[in-house]
Amino acid sequence: MRSLAVNVPPQDRPPSVDRLARSLAGIDLPHPLLVDAARAAIAAGDPDSAEDRAHGIRRRLLAPVINGTGVLLHTNLGRAPLAWSQRADYSNLELDLATGERGDRQAGAAALLAGACGAEAAMVVNNCAAAVMLVLAALAEGRDAVVSRGELVEIGGGFRVPDVMAWSGARLVEGGTTNRTRRADFAAAVANPGNDVAVVVQVHQSNFRMVGYTEAPGTAELADLGPPLVADIGSGLLDSRCPWLDGGPPPWLDREPAARQSLEAGAAVVTFSGDKLLGGPQAGIIAGRAGLVDACRRHPLARALRPGSLVLGALQDTALAYLRGDGNAIEFWRMAALTPAELRGRLGPYEGLAEVVTAATPGGGTLPGVEIESVGVSVPGDHAAALRSRPRPIIARVIDGATVADLRTVHADDDAEVAAALREAAGLPD
Ligand SMILES: *Cc1c(COP(=O)(O)O)cnc(C)c1O
Repeated sequence: MRSLAVNVPPQDRPPSVDRLARSLAGIDLPHPLLVDAARAAIAAGDPDSAEDRAHGIRRRLLAPVINGTGVLLHTNLGRAPLAWSQRADYSNLELDLATGERGDRQAGAAALLAGACGAEAAMVVNNCAAAVMLVLAALAEGRDAVVSRGELVEIGGGFRVPDVMAWSGARLVEGGTTNRTRRADFAAAVANPGNDVAVVVQVHQSNFRMVGYTEAPGTAELADLGPPLVADIGSGLLDSRCPWLDGGPPPWLDREPAARQSLEAGAAVVTFSGDKLLGGPQAGIIAGRAGLVDACRRHPLARALRPGSLVLGALQDTALAYLRGDGNAIEFWRMAALTPAELRGRLGPYEGLAEVVTAATPGGGTLPGVEIESVGVSVPGDHAAALRSRPRPIIARVIDGATVADLRTVHADDDAEVAAALREAAGLPD
């Protein structure tokens, strides 16, 4: 085949992919990804765009960001903030060090969490959606599960209670109405000879509120209907008394259901997320009566939903912090419990910038409408994109034409960096 390139004057000839890729070597990416950027730039007839394209690839990789939004559990920012760093090490994930025999990966974090919420037993799976699915599959496959029509909810990210039930193989029996459901509705479904009710299911309306003419039975009212009560509390508050906080429960927790109190009220099993109000890694926890948790552990799906040692290690650290009563060791709770005065005490590095009162939120599809008084720093104009494009991206909010960083979700160690970034974005002197 004849090449046409011989007729093209040298200055108009596209640079070779390889040469262009090598010119990008200063960007922290493996060579094949630089080649991808170079190839795409040349294919688009715009070799100069190679550098931007390579930076674009870099920025799509997972990396730490500074959360200036004031949303404590920001789903787009990975929900609960988490430390993880470990050299390459083996672990006793499934080795019993006492006997030298095969051990149980659920013996660490899961057992500790069971203790922390007063459950007979617990197990850990990949997330709460998986926990609900496994519980229903293990306890109600091919049988009926009664749920209130007011709790056939969508939690976000595609978690729809009716769909999860369908996938679990349990048959959904609806009780009550959208706004009002009573114990008698559940009792009637259980007593109906046409039904084969294996479990009664209560789902926390995590991310929305119903107001007005509403009624829903409490956990205790549904606990003695006969079939075991499964309470999907979702948010992962371990104990409504918050013994890990010096000041006890913050007022904004309101009437959020907690694992310990749900079990005390008679729930046979509770399910909750690891990375919402629990403040740990993405995980789902199934806690409750030993026989029921054991049925979940023995179900074939359990193998497909089991977490690895990274998650179990991080969750174990979280559980140990709860057992020590050390809320400060759980980054979510440490940030959530900061007082406005403590936040104001960090304003030094932000000198010269405007202080604003802000409303932080728990986020993560928990506690809708709840605001936590907070302190922010503001500069005029919308600089959100510039802040996001920094080497360590800063995610800020734009409120009434001003860019605001909420100090509640910014680590104090990052105050100087955030202050410098805000000054730079707004064109203010250092
Ligand atoms: C958040 C939530 C879920 C889903 O939890 P993931 O850990 O995100 O899978 C399920 N049920 C309830 C009630 C929730 O609040």
